[in-house]
Amino acid sequence: MGRVLAVDLSSGEIRDYPWSDEEYRTWLGGKAMAARILADILPTDAGPLEPGNVLVISTGPLTGTGAPSSSRFSVAARSPLTGLPATSNCGGSFGTHLKRAGYDALIVTGAAAQPVWLEIAEEGVTVHDAKDVWGLRTTAAQDALRKGVGKRCGTIVAGPAGENLVAYACLLSDDRAAGRAGMGAVFGSKNLKGIAAWGTRRTPVAEPERYSKHIKEWSAALKAHPIAGGSLPRLGTAGFLKPMQDLGIVATRNFKHGRFDGAGQIDGEALAARRLVDTAGCTSCPIRCGRVVELDGRRIKGPELETLVLLGANLDNPDLDRIIEWNEILDELGLDTMSTGGTISFAMEAAERGLWDNGLEFGRTDGLAATFEDIAYRRGLGDELADGSRALAERYGGADFAMNVKGLEIAAYEPRRAVGQGLGYAVANRGGCHLGGGYGVALEGLALRMDGRSPKGKAALVVLFQDLMEAISSAGSCLFTTLGVLPGSLVATPKSAWGRSAAILFRHAAVVLRLMRIAPRGLLRIPMPLIPHIRAIELATGERYGFGGFWAVGERAYNLERALQARFGVDSSADTLPERLTREQEPDGGGRGAVPLESLKRDYYRQRGWSKNGLPDDALMSRLGTGGRKSRAR
Ligand code: SF4
Repeated sequence: MGRVLAVDLSSGEIRDYPWSDEEYRTWLGGKAMAARILADILPTDAGPLEPGNVLVISTGPLTGTGAPSSSRFSVAARSPLTGLPATSNCGGSFGTHLKRAGYDALIVTGAAAQPVWLEIAEEGVTVHDAKDVWGLRTTAAQDALRKGVGKRCGTIVAGPAGENLVAYACLLSDDRAAGRAGMGAVFGSKNLKGIAAWGTRRTPVAEPERYSKHIKEWSAALKAHPIAGGSLPRLGTAGFLKPMQDLGIVATRNFKHGRFDGAGQIDGEALAARRLVDTAGCTSCPIRCGRVVELDGRRIKGPELETLVLLGANLDNPDLDRIIEWNEILDELGLDTMSTGGTISFAMEAAERGLWDNGLEFGRTDGLAATFEDIAYRRGLGDELADGSRALAERYGGADFAMNVKGLEIAAYEPRRAVGQGLGYAVANRGGCHLGGGYGVALEGLALRMDGRSPKGKAALVVLFQDLMEAISSAGSCLFTTLGVLPGSLVATPKSAWGRSAAILFRHAAVVLRLMRIAPRGLLRIPMPLIPHIRAIELATGERYGFGGFWAVGERAYNLERALQARFGVDSSADTLPERLTREQEPDGGGRGAVPLESLKRDYYRQRGWSKNGLPDDALMSRLGTGGRKSRAR
C-alpha cells in the first residue's frame, strides 16, 4: 500500500522507509502518519535547526484521487518556533504530484553541505545544486524548480525567511502555504531550498465506479451546503469576519478588544466589492475559498481571514489594500502571516507600555513592509522580531500580553466570548491554533449559536472535534469539509428552534463521547452520511473503517502527538493562555470576559482520559493501539 521515501541530506543516502500495510491502515496518512514516524525516529536531543531534526511530508489516502477538497498534505518536524513537534497543513499541488511519483510520504533527515533542491520522480531522486535558486523569493524559486524539472510538477519551497532561519518561516506550494510553526526554517537549516515532484502514476482506488459516484455526490453536497457552497466560495474565509465582529471575537489591538471599528473596511463583503476578481482553489476543490484580487492593475492572491484580522484589526489597521500588499510580500518572503501579525502586535504593545523602544505603533502602517523584509533577512529590529512573541517577551517582559501558546501565535479569534475556542488554543498540540484546538468557535457562533461564554459541554466538544479533524486531516481532506458535518438546514438557520435545540444538544457532547468509548464496535455500523470521508476512504482503500474506526484514527493520532510532546517536556503546565485572556476582563465584556481555563482544562483531561497532569498513560495508549516500533535504523 503506502510507500515512504527517506532522504538523508548529510550522507546522501536515499532509500525506502519501511511502512507496512498494517501501519497504513492504522494511521491512514497526513498528520497521523507524520506523528507515527516522528514518534519512531525523532531524537529528543537534536534541536529544531540541527541536522538531527526529522522532516516528514505526508499525503492522505484521498490525496490525488479527485475527492473534493482532498489534495491536502502535511509537513511535520520539531518546530523552531515552539521547540516541539508540530505539523503544518498545505493545499498546494505538491502532495498530488508526490503521489504521482509513487510516494505517500517523504522523510528528510540530515543537512546538505551546500544549498540543494530535490527532484523526486518515478525513476528516482536527484539532488540538485541550488546555488542559482538560493536567495530567490517563493514564486521565482518555484518557477526555477519547474524549469529545472522541465515537466509538469508539484513544488514546495522556502523563501528568504526560511534560508535565514526565521522561527516562523513558512513553505509555499503554488500559492498555498504550509504556514505555521516554522517549517520554512527547518528547510533552511537543512540547506534545502525546495522539492519538486512529478510522475504519471494514478493513485489506485479499490472500487473505482462506486468511488466516482460517491465523490460526485460528496461534491454536490458540499456545493449545496450554506457555508461550504455558499459563504466560502462567495466571500472566502474573510466572510467569517462579519459574524465574528457581531459576536465580539475579532482579535483587535493585540487581543485587547473583541470588536474592531474598521471591521467593515476589511471584511469579506469589502474585499468582494472592492478587489475580488476571481476565486481560486486547491486541486480538486469545489469550494474554492481562495481569493484572486486586483491591486495596482495586477491580479494577485487575496488575503484570508486570519491575515485580514492579524495584520488588520490586531494592528489597528483598517487599510484593506495595505493588507493585500503585505500578504503578497509575506508569501514571497516565506513568512507566516499569522505569526508575523501576532509578533508585530506584541511589539507594538510593548512599545506603547514603555517596555521596548522599537518605533512600532498601533495604527501606523508606513514602514511595516520594510520591517517584514528586515524580519526575513534578519536585519536590525527584524532580527529580533524573527524569533516570535514568546522570545521577545522573555527579552523585554510582557508575557501576559504575548499572545501565543507554547510559542505559536494565537489565531484570529479572540476567545473570551468563545471559551471553547480558548480551551482549544490552550491544549492544542501545536500551540495557539484554532484548528488543532478543535475549532470550537464554529459551534460558538460561526455556524451554530452555542453560548460562547458558557463552559458547559465545551471540553467534550473540543475532544470530539479535535479527534474528528485529526482523522479528516489524516485522510488528506481540507478541514473546511468538517463544516459539512453540520447539517445545512441547521447552519442556515442557527437561531431557529431547530438550531437552538441543536446548540443545547451539543452541550451534552460528553454523553456522546462516553457512548463512543463504551460501544465503539456498535458505532462501527452506524452510517454517517454527514462524514463522507469514511465511505470515500473505504472505497479508495478497500478497507472497512466505519465511523468508529475512522474516529479512532483521530483519537489515536491526537494522543500519540501528545505523548510525543511529553518527551519534550510538555504537561499541563504548558497548556496555558496569556493572562490577558484568563484574567483581564474584556472592556466591553460586561464583567464576564475571561476564559475559565483551569476548570475547562480539568474537564478536558477527564474527557480525554488523561492524568491530572494532562498526560495519557500506558493503559490508554495501549487501548488506542498507538504502539510503534521501538526504533528504526535511520
Ligand atoms: S476549501 Fe479552500 S483551503 Fe480547503 S481545499 Fe478548498 S480551496 Fe483549499
